[in-house]
Formats: sequence, C-alpha cells, structure tokens
Amino acid sequence: MTVDKNYKKRILLVEDEKDMAYAVTLQLEAKGYEVIVASDGREGLGMARTKKPDLIILDLMLPKIDGYKVCRMLKFDDKYMKIPVILFTSRALDSDKKTGKEVGADAYITKPFEPSVLLDKICELLAAS
Ligand code: CA
Repeated sequence: MTVDKNYKKRILLVEDEKDMAYAVTLQLEAKGYEVIVASDGREGLGMARTKKPDLIILDLMLPKIDGYKVCRMLKFDDKYMKIPVILFTSRALDSDKKTGKEVGADAYITKPFEPSVLLDKICELLAAS
C-alpha cells in the first residue's frame, strides 16, 4: 500500500470539556493529525459512523450517551470494530479499566494527560491498524 504523504490521519475526539478538547486538539494538530471534535456521546457515535476516523479518543463521562456505551456500540458492529478506540478519563480505577476491556477499548489514557504518552499510544495503534 502506498501512503500519500499529504494524507492526514483523522482522529475523532469525543470530549465535552471544552478546555480539554482544545488542549488535546492542539497537541494532535501540532503532530500533523486532522482532528474532529464531538461534544457528547450521541454526536460522537454519529461522527464515528459518518466521518471515517482512523482513530477515536473517547471520554467516558459524556452527556447523552456515555463513553462505554459509545465504545460498545462501535466495537460490536462489524463496520466499525476495526477503528482503534482510546478511552480517555480522569477516573483511573481498576474497575474502569476492566469495563474498558469488556467494551473492546484498545487503550486507556488517564487525565490529566501526558502528551507524549497519548501521542505514543496513537502512533502505536495507527501502526497496528
Ligand atoms: Ca467528560
């Protein structure tokens, strides 16, 4: 497969906290990713299905549909299950990580996020997908 050097990987960020969404968007755009942002679970699910993102960063505590449900609905659908999902949350309980695994998440990043950790994880998942 040839890679067009002008092709930007598209990342869907589902995050209802505007400051956090802005901070993550800046980091990702600085690395050359195209970022699209949804501010609640329903919008995120819709954009995941229509905008063909290469990867999704998904906050857990979201209005309308929570991140676990969004993840589950994508990962249990043949059409979308291959899109890597990084769950993004300020909660870091082991029980949350276990639930994340159960709904098929590919990785888990806790807030406040370390940009290098997030970027490394994105690179790793995009390389594997
Ligand atoms: Ca949130």
